[in-house]
Formats: sequence, C-alpha cells, structure tokens
Amino acid sequence: MIQVKYDKDVSKQALALLKTKTVCIVGFGSQGHAHAANLHDSGISVVVALRKESANWKRVSTFGIEVAEVASAVAKADIIMILAPDESQRTIYKSMIEPYCKSDAALAFAHGFNIHYGQIIPKSTSDVFMVAPKGPGHLVRSTFKEGAGVPCLVAVNQNHSGQALDLALAYAVAIGGGRSGIIETSFKNETETDLFGEQAVLCGGLTALVRAGFETLVEAGYDPELAYFECLHELKLIVDLMYEGGISDMHYSISNTAEYGSLTQGPVLIDAKVKHRMRQILNNIQSGSFSRDFILENQAGAPTMYAMRRMQSEHPIEIIGKKLRSMMPWISKNKKITERSE
Ligand code: NDP
Ligand code: MG
Repeated sequence: MIQVKYDKDVSKQALALLKTKTVCIVGFGSQGHAHAANLHDSGISVVVALRKESANWKRVSTFGIEVAEVASAVAKADIIMILAPDESQRTIYKSMIEPYCKSDAALAFAHGFNIHYGQIIPKSTSDVFMVAPKGPGHLVRSTFKEGAGVPCLVAVNQNHSGQALDLALAYAVAIGGGRSGIIETSFKNETETDLFGEQAVLCGGLTALVRAGFETLVEAGYDPELAYFECLHELKLIVDLMYEGGISDMHYSISNTAEYGSLTQGPVLIDAKVKHRMRQILNNIQSGSFSRDFILENQAGAPTMYAMRRMQSEHPIEIIGKKLRSMMPWISKNKKITERSE
C-alpha cells in the first residue's frame, strides 16, 4: 500500500529548511498565481518571474509579492518552480534560466513532462523535484483560502543536496497539499498517469461524452435547453456526490430507475472497444508519440489547437450554455475562474 502523508507527517526540519530558501515562481497563470500566493501566505520568501510585457505584472503586486524579469528573478532563487505552459518551458529554461541561475539552485515542476520526455536537461548540481497538485490552479488557491487544499504528488528526479525530498514535501505542505494528502511517486508515473487521466477521462473523455449526449438528443428533435440541462448542467451534482462518497453514494442518492439504467447501460456504452482505445491512448503516452505530436504542433505555431479551440467554442452546447447560465447568476457568483487573460 502506498503511504499518504499529511501535514503532521512532514518534519519541522523540512519546513524550517524551506523557510531559509527563496522560491522563484516562473509564470503567474493557473498554477503560478496559486503557488506564489499560498507560499507567500505560508511565510515563504517568494519572487515571481515574468516577462516585462506581462499583463500579470500588476496582479502579482496586488498579492504583496515581489515580481521581476525572469533572468534577474531566477538569479537570486534557491528553488525555481517552472509554472509556464509545458510547451514553453524548454525555451524559457535554455534562454532565461540555465544561463542565470545559481549552479545549485533546485529546479521544480508541477508536471513531469519536460523532464520525463528529455526536453529539459538540468545541471547535475541541481536538485530536481516535482510538486504536482491534482487539481486546477484556481482550486489550489480557493481551497487553501478555505483552510483545505488539493492533494499533491511529489517526486524527486535528482537529489544533489540530499534534501530534495524534504524540500518537495515542505513545499507541498506550504501550498496546502498536506491537508488533503501527499503521495510520493516518480516523474514517469506522474507524467503518464496525468496525461492519461486528462485525455481519456477527466477532460477528453468527459467533454466528448457530454457533447455526444447533447448532439444525440438535439438531433432527435429535443430542445437544446433540455439537452443542455440533462447532459451538462446536472453533471455537477453527480460529480459532487461521487467526489464526496464514491460511485456507491451517488447511486444511493439517485432514483432506482436511474441506478438501474446506470448499471445496465453504462457498460453497454463504455464497452471493451472503448477500453481498447483507452489502452491505445496510454500506449501513445508511454511511447512518447503523444508528446512528440504536442511538441511539433507547438513548433508549427499550434494550428490544430487554434482551429479546434475555435470549433469547440462555436459548438451549439457552448452557445446555449452561455444563455442559460446568464439566467442563473448564483453560478457566476461562485465562479472559480474570475478573470481570463484571453
Ligand atoms: P498557464 O498557461 O496558466 O501559465 C501562464 C503563465 O506562464 C503566464 O503568467 C505567462 O506569462 C507565463 N509564461 C508563458 N510563457 C512565458 C515565458 N516565455 N516567460 C515567462 N513566463 C511565461 O500554465 P498552467 O498553470 O496551466 O501550467 C503550469 C504548469 O503546471 C505546467 O507544467 C502544467 O502541466 C502544470 N499543471 C497545471 C495544472 C493546471 O491547473 N493548469 C494542473 C497541474 C499541473 P504572461 O503573464 O506574460 O502571460
Ligand atoms: Mg493534468
């Protein structure tokens, strides 16, 4: 059985060690703002690294956190947590981190992609560790403020100082991970399971399922409003029940009719063929074929991403959803994403 660690399991020495360090957070996006603000609230010395022209520059100051250009921010850091998009990290590291950072500065990540697929080759004198929250950055911040936290995976790839695991655990505690659970893993396992989860289930699988259900109802002549409530809006309640008490609690709460339909029809839909394709998705991740496509896509200026994003935003479920949500103002009152840069 894997050991899950909590606040109480992380030593005082590890926390004290982190307090002697200056942490540089590169980027102030989804994860960046949450790590920087949570560390700052936990009494850790933080500097945020951004490009001069960044629209986020002013936002950092509103948190009372120091902000500087990447080269000068990394130069004074003992720990450099890279929280820019995965596809930009290699270039940022090569041009703005490697030439300017201390030779023994630790390099940290919230996802193993660039280390596992060999896009960043750190100095042999650096510690290299990961603290990967298992949730979106906006939840990392909002749950922390509520006194809770998002579970974190930690991993060590290079342990030059002999203290890399202590630093990773203390960092995870300082951003709130120890309130939910910290699990030690490897860069390989984090990278492969994370990519699989988001592609097959959480993001790719789920959104395709919701859209296909919506389209099936609308194409059969039902109102899109009805299809939206049935296939997207109601998901929240179902997911909340599963989150709190597993699939059993969710089945307990819904009607017997719904439970019978769920148990008998779910496996008809998500059958052995779907599972076979899930294994193909996993194989593409393990072989590096997905990461190669993603890296080449970005070198080409991300044409597929732009086109598919636009098509997605024009799908009828998005249009009807916007209209219906505007009639439910309480939803926007509790929104996790309160501002978007694009
Ligand atoms: P974002 O896309 O939200 O990061 C955007 C930030 O990176 C912005 O502040 C942007 O600057 C900055 N940035 C981009 N390019 C550069 C550059 N060349 N130099 C300096 N800063 C730059 O990233 P995420 O938070 O989504 O992801 C960060 C990491 O966290 C990734 O490794 C990801 O896999 C991981 N992760 C993300 C999760 C999430 O919730 N999104 C969940 C778990 C892990 P500007 O202000 O100028 O726009
Ligand atoms: Mg992920």
